[in-house]
Amino acid sequence: MYEVIIGMETHVEQNTASKMFCSCSAEIFGAEPNTHVCPTCLGLPGALPVINQKAVENCIMVGLALNCKIASHTFWERKSYWYPDLPKGYQISQYQYPIAYDGYLDVDVRDTSTGGWTEVSYRKRIRIRRAHLEEDTGKLTHEDGQTLVDFNRSGVPLIEIVTEPDIHTADEAYAYLSALRDIVRYLKVSSGDMEKGAMRGEPNMSLRPAGQVVYGTKVEIKNLNSMRAVRDSIDYEVKRQTTVLDTGGAVRQVTLGWDDMRGVTVIQREKEEAHDYRYFPEPDLPPLDIDEVWLASIRARMPELPLAIQDRYVHNFGLSGYDAMVLTKDQAVAEYYERVVHDHPTRAKTAANWITGELFRLMSGSGQEIGSVKVHPEQLADLMKLVEDQIININTAKGVFEEMFATGQNARAIVEARGLAQISDSSALEQSVRDVLDANPTQLRNYLAGQEKLFQFFVGQVMKATRGKGNPQVVQRLLKQALEQHRSAG
Ligand SMILES: [Zn+2]
Repeated sequence: MYEVIIGMETHVEQNTASKMFCSCSAEIFGAEPNTHVCPTCLGLPGALPVINQKAVENCIMVGLALNCKIASHTFWERKSYWYPDLPKGYQISQYQYPIAYDGYLDVDVRDTSTGGWTEVSYRKRIRIRRAHLEEDTGKLTHEDGQTLVDFNRSGVPLIEIVTEPDIHTADEAYAYLSALRDIVRYLKVSSGDMEKGAMRGEPNMSLRPAGQVVYGTKVEIKNLNSMRAVRDSIDYEVKRQTTVLDTGGAVRQVTLGWDDMRGVTVIQREKEEAHDYRYFPEPDLPPLDIDEVWLASIRARMPELPLAIQDRYVHNFGLSGYDAMVLTKDQAVAEYYERVVHDHPTRAKTAANWITGELFRLMSGSGQEIGSVKVHPEQLADLMKLVEDQIININTAKGVFEEMFATGQNARAIVEARGLAQISDSSALEQSVRDVLDANPTQLRNYLAGQEKLFQFFVGQVMKATRGKGNPQVVQRLLKQALEQHRSAG
């Protein structure tokens, strides 16, 4: 048996309007290569960097969300290395004093092997070593034996988040990245889209015999562009390294990539000499002081975070952990839900069913996001009220909701225009009950002779006579009364 030890390094690309140290637009996705550049982000001699305050605040917010301590004093450092996508020959980063450090993130771990979401298995705390700010590099494209470089990404603000080696399974890695992505989205600091490179998770991992103190040889997995790829590559490496160790072999220290098509890791680089980045303070930027007043103003802007909301839904509303997670994946859905249950906590479960059932079904059928849905939360609340008041039954309500979804009309208007209101008026229903009993003398005799099951037959006949609009509770009550009268008269 081996213990798997994983640390995760994640780069989150911020969605600020401008870059980290210049005023170039940072909205580069899909742009023509080398159109979002200036002397500063091209690293031309003499160009001077200026700090993007919003990018610093975003990093502080992420640090607070990760329960980190925030440095009161930090400065920028040059991380020197030579690479074609790094025009200055160094990257401006933070080394000695990251903006945020010594934090943790609690995550709900689920079994993801089925491909879908499942109920929570357990909650786990993953310690965060540091979160610091740096600038992104350019991007290389290798084509027909040539290498092309695009500097649009050069200087886009990045947050690098490093965990302690607290992750032990692929599911825990998945849970961590998923929770981190939810957080950066709630904080509105990044799209968190791994597929677009806005979040890049790089696990480093090793195996050691259970009980051994010394760590095994570490491999790193790079360039993973989905959470599924992170999970699958870790699973694959656990199996591969287990086989190597079981057969008396030694794991080599390498940097790996993931071949998504073949489902295997591939060696990108053999063990390299330890980098000597020759960090030294950036002379062109002043040190950064984060005082209490500034910190307090950022703290005041922090939204309620997904895990806290989920816990509130479970404890206050009685939702399952699964439903709470589904409702909070997208902050806009959580806000929609809260508006439906506003002042009506007793509706919490029914509202969750409406949203995760009917609403999600219609949304995915029409390819819509919550923001473009025509039914406002208050309109859904009105529809639910019609069911509660027994004006329409749940099946009718589902049909009404489909029409609301298509047209944006109010439930009441649809119910009225289409004459869908239930008949709760006793006198009208009494007549139907009498008619049904008169029309089925054989069944009536058999019922009175003890075939109690025929009660449902009579209910069905009355519902049919009222074309489904009879209020089931009232119909049952009136039927019971009428049958008792026959019994005592008989
Ligand atoms: Zn620039």
